[in-house]
Amino acid sequence: MEREHRQYERERRVTILIITEKPSMARKYREALKGVPDLRVANSFGHIEALADINHYLADRLGDNNTWRGSIPHLPFVPEKFVHVIREEEAFAEIAKHLPQADEVVLACDPDREGELIQRNIVEIAADRGLMKGQKLTRVWLHSETASEIKKAFAERRPHSDYEGYYQAARTREAVDWTVGLQLTRLYSVKYGRPGHLISVGRVQSWLLAEIVKRWREHTDHTPQTFWTYTFKTADGVVFNLVDEEKKIRRFFAADAEEQKKLATAAGKPLTITAVEKKPFTEHAPALYDLKQLQKDAANRYKFTPDDTLKLAQALYETHELISYPRTDCNVLSPEEAKELEKAVALVERFAEYRQLAATVRAANPGLTLAKKYIGELQGHYAIIPVLSYDRPGLPTLSDDERKVFDLIVKRFMAALLPPAKGDATEMLGTVDAFPFLARFRNYTDLGFKAALGKELVADDDAEEEEKPLQVSYEKGQTVGGKLGEKKDETKPPPLYTDAAILSLMEKAHLLVVDKALREALKDANGVGTAATRAGFIPTLIAREYIKKEKQVYVPTPLGLELEPLLPDELKVPDYSARLEYHLWNTVKGKGSVGFDQFMTESLDFLRRVFDKIQGSAARLNQLDAADALGACPKCGKGFILEREKCYSCTDRQGCGFVLWKVYSNAKLTKTELKNILKNGETKKPLKMKSKEGREFEARIRLNRESWRADYVFENKFEKKV
Ligand SMILES: [Zn+2]
Repeated sequence: MEREHRQYERERRVTILIITEKPSMARKYREALKGVPDLRVANSFGHIEALADINHYLADRLGDNNTWRGSIPHLPFVPEKFVHVIREEEAFAEIAKHLPQADEVVLACDPDREGELIQRNIVEIAADRGLMKGQKLTRVWLHSETASEIKKAFAERRPHSDYEGYYQAARTREAVDWTVGLQLTRLYSVKYGRPGHLISVGRVQSWLLAEIVKRWREHTDHTPQTFWTYTFKTADGVVFNLVDEEKKIRRFFAADAEEQKKLATAAGKPLTITAVEKKPFTEHAPALYDLKQLQKDAANRYKFTPDDTLKLAQALYETHELISYPRTDCNVLSPEEAKELEKAVALVERFAEYRQLAATVRAANPGLTLAKKYIGELQGHYAIIPVLSYDRPGLPTLSDDERKVFDLIVKRFMAALLPPAKGDATEMLGTVDAFPFLARFRNYTDLGFKAALGKELVADDDAEEEEKPLQVSYEKGQTVGGKLGEKKDETKPPPLYTDAAILSLMEKAHLLVVDKALREALKDANGVGTAATRAGFIPTLIAREYIKKEKQVYVPTPLGLELEPLLPDELKVPDYSARLEYHLWNTVKGKGSVGFDQFMTESLDFLRRVFDKIQGSAARLNQLDAADALGACPKCGKGFILEREKCYSCTDRQGCGFVLWKVYSNAKLTKTELKNILKNGETKKPLKMKSKEGREFEARIRLNRESWRADYVFENKFEKKV
C-alpha cells in the first residue's frame, strides 16, 4: 500500500514542502525523511511574523500627524481584519521560494497553539502575496523528535483543518493581547509617560506587577505578633508537638492566654498515648522536569533567573542537542517514548562523571522501565530529558552554567529509572490533660533512588515532612513521663517574591480565581503565560523600571508603586486571563465557547471603560520627574522640584503647590542656589538685590518652613519676609 502510494507520488511528481518552526527541526526532518522523493524542508525562526502596528490601521485618518499622541483620539478599536506583516523578510524568502513549486505544504511547526499560529500566519501572508495556488495543506503533529516518530507522524499527517481549534485559540490570544496590550501601552505612555519613556501595560505583566506590589505592601505593613508553641519531650528523648484538630503545630497567641494558663498547670503531668499508627509508604523520585520546575530548581540551587535557565536549556537543546525540547509544560513521557530510553541512558553514560550512576541504574532496572507516574498522554511536547537519540561524534563542550542545568536534568531523569524508596511511617498521638500532642517518624527499609541521588535532587514543592527515624515506639494506653517545653516566637511577614516563587505564582494563579469554571480553565492551562513566555515578563518589568532585584527578591521601584494604583482593576487579578483561557481551551476542544468576535467585543468594552477613566484622571507619575528633578520637594516630600519658565515648583502643583521664584528683588535664583536651598535650607552666598526704590542690598534666601516661602537673611542677621 505504502509502496503503491510512493509509486503514485513519483509518477505524478508531487512536490512536498515541509515548514518547521526552527532550523534544528528542519534538519531532523531532512534526516528522518531522506528517502522521500521531491521533498523540500524549510524553516521559520519562531515568530518571523507579527500583527501590524496600530498606525497601520489608522494611516488614512492620521495623515501627517502619525504620532502616538495623535492616534489617541482614534483609540480604542478592534480592526475589522487583523493584518500580519513579516518581520524577517530574509527568513520568509527562504520559505517562499519553494511555495510555487509545491503541490502539498506540510505544516510542521511545534505541536502547540503558538506553532499553529506561526505557520498559519505565514500561509496567510503567502496567500496575500499570491504564492498560494491551491496547494494541499496538511499538518504533522509530533510528540517527540526521534527519527521513527517523525516518519510515523509524517505518514499519518492530517488535513490542516483538523487543527482549526488550536488556530482559533491562538489567534484569539494574539488578537486580545495586541488589542489590550498595545492600545493601553499607548494610552498610558501618552498620558503618564515622558518623551522617550514608555509606560507599558499588558495582560500578564500588569497582573504580575500588581502581585509584586501587593506582596511588598503586605511585607512592609506586617506587624509581628508574638506566639508560643509547645512540645512534650519524653524521658526517652522523643519529641511530641502540641497540635490542633488538623494535626498541625498549634500556635498560641495573646488571645489564648486562658488556655496557656491551663497548660501551665499540666506541666509535670505525663503523656497518655491515645493512638499509634504504622503505615508502609512508597516514595518515587520526583516527577520529570517541565520547564517551570527546571527553572525553579535552577533558581533555588544556582540562583539562575528563569530567563537564564531557559537560555541555557535552549542551548543544550539547539546547539548541543543533548536534551529534548525545553519549552514544555509537560512532565511525563508518552508510552512510545518510554520504550526508547536505552539511547538516552547510553548518552548519559558517555559522560565520565555519570558512568557510575548509569551502572547503578542498569543494575537496578535492566529493562529501563518507568513507573506509571512518569507516563501519560501528551498535548504537545514531552518532559525535559536527555535526548532519545544522540548521533553526533564525541561530546560537546559545555559552559559551567550549561553543565549545571544539564546535571539537574540528567539526575532527575536517572532517578526516575531507579526503584522507589520504601519504608514505614509511624504516627503517635497522645494527650497531656486535654491537650493533643503528636509525633511523626519515617523509617526507610529500602533507600531506592535515594541511595544514589538522595542529596542531589532538589525536593518537590510538596516534599514530605521531616524525616526523623523512629527512636522508641510506645503503645496505645501507655503513660509516658517527660517534660513540657515552651517556645516563644514571632509571626513573620509574607516573604517577598524570589524567581522560584514568581514561577509558582504564575503556575498556581488559578488559586486566586473565585469562579470555579474559570479556576479549572486556568489550572488546565497551566496558569498564566506559557512555558515559552513565562520567563520573559520579569525582564520586561525590570527594563521598564517597575521592579528591581534586591539580593534574591523582587521589589517594586517607586515608579512601580506609583503606577500600580493607576492600572485597570481588571488587569490586577488573574480572572481576566482565566476567562481568556476558559474560552481558548473550549475553542481547542471544539466546544465553541463565546467565539472570537464576542471576545473581541468584550475586550473593546473593557478598553473603552479604561480609556474614559484614564483620560479623565488628573494623576501623574511623579517618579518620572525624579530624573530631571532638582531635588525632592521639601514641603510634601513626595513630589519633586522641577524648573519651569518663571519658577521652581513641586510636581504636585494642585495638592502641594510649593513654589520658589526664579527672580527675587531683581536677583536671579540660580539652579545651583536652588539646590542649596533644598539641601541646606538657604542659599550659600548672599544675592545682589535691588529694591523697588532702586536701593542695592545683599541678602541670602532662606526657606521659611512654616509659610513655605522665601525669607531674606541679611548679614547683620536681620530677617525680612518677602
Ligand atoms: Zn510638594
